Amino acid sequence: MTIKIWKFFQREQLFECYQCARCTGSCPAMEVAPALGPRETILICLNQGHDRVVEDEKLWLCCTCNVCEDRCPQEIPICDLLVALRNSAARRGNIPIRLGMAIELLAKTGRSMIVHQLDEMRAHHGLAPLPPAPVDEVRDILKKTGLDEVIEI
Ligand code: SF4
Ligand code: SF4
Repeated sequence: MTIKIWKFFQREQLFECYQCARCTGSCPAMEVAPALGPRETILICLNQGHDRVVEDEKLWLCCTCNVCEDRCPQEIPICDLLVALRNSAARRGNIPIRLGMAIELLAKTGRSMIVHQLDEMRAHHGLAPLPPAPVDEVRDILKKTGLDEVIEI
């Protein structure tokens, strides 16, 4: 099954890239992990198609800091491309387990992390308990973003 990403990103913009590598050279994710560099991502999309990229779990190592885009001399909206690729990856089930768990927790509890000991810790520091999370509101927001089309919530 091929899922199109080009309705979310203008593919023609990739042809503006002249592979100078300023983006990849500035990428903090590349400093700490074997991430997929933005220059490489564009090259793979052009040469092999985006299907190849969305199957690669390294796509999720990008922290969407936008530095690559800020430094691109061609003003290519690289982050838009990366987000479109991730959305496509998530629709195929290529989503990191921990991220999937955080989303499920958010949908169930209104928070993306377990906070059962938090009230205890807050009390220890003289702080009031956390107010209840607006779970229904959070679920509504998640649905309005279309997340329920990507992951069961
Ligand atoms: S900085 Fe821009 S032009 Fe240079 S490789 Fe990256 S995307 Fe291409
Ligand atoms: S947005 Fe992602 S790819 Fe671009 S510099 Fe930041 S971590 Fe690297």
